[in-house]
Amino acid sequence: MRKKIVAGNWKMHKTCGEARELVLAVLAGLSESLRQRADVIFCPPFTALDTVSELVKGQPTVFSGAQNCHWAASGAYTGEVSAPMLRACGASYVIIGHSERRQYFHEDDALLAQKVEVALQHGLRPIFCVGEPLDVREASGHLKWVEQQLQLGLFDLNADQFAQVVIAYEPVWAIGTGRVATDGQAQEMHAHIRSLVAHRYGTAVAQRLHILYGGSCKPSNAAGLFSQPDVDGGLIGGASLAAEEFLGIIHAC
Ligand code: PEP
Repeated sequence: MRKKIVAGNWKMHKTCGEARELVLAVLAGLSESLRQRADVIFCPPFTALDTVSELVKGQPTVFSGAQNCHWAASGAYTGEVSAPMLRACGASYVIIGHSERRQYFHEDDALLAQKVEVALQHGLRPIFCVGEPLDVREASGHLKWVEQQLQLGLFDLNADQFAQVVIAYEPVWAIGTGRVATDGQAQEMHAHIRSLVAHRYGTAVAQRLHILYGGSCKPSNAAGLFSQPDVDGGLIGGASLAAEEFLGIIHAC
């Protein structure tokens, strides 16, 4: 039985002070039974990562993560942040391949594969995002689309490397739109992802893999999504920015 994971992707929100307030409020609401039911990951902007990491330090079920990293470990890349820097800040995870990075920063599958590799080399667990745009879903091409993203972004990893990866299925049409995938749509895709992983890495690896759902997940719809057999929790955007809402989602685990 896989323990649930609920990760908050704060995007470009929260100053250091606001981050501190939010994390302390969530930690205060995390009862022992919630901590047993779900691991929690906060993914603040880079500027608040050190603060958040300090706050969750020593809490075995709560972690910090970054929202992105550069593909190189160091170098002349003005304005960028590397995987070893994130690790040194206390991050355990890094989101790679979020659809906003793919769309606004033109990150393609080959580049994302490099980012996954560098993250793993430096002890960060990638939360690798996949998901189809609306026109692809409407043309029933979603399963093939995600298969291609997995093949190009992840499937060159060896089994030991892959064991460190968390996958987030985030249909692009559901992110920040208020339009959520149905429980059945999420389950169909998650089961598909797990079967592709089983085919590539074997059943044991596939059964251990955490596959999170992301896209307009809220306290009101989380329980239905999380009750699907292949949905192992959520990657939460908007609803991770307020302690009560985020805790409401964790309660659904
Ligand atoms: C996200 O950006 O990863 C996300 C899931 O956003 P939202 O929950 O706001 O749709």
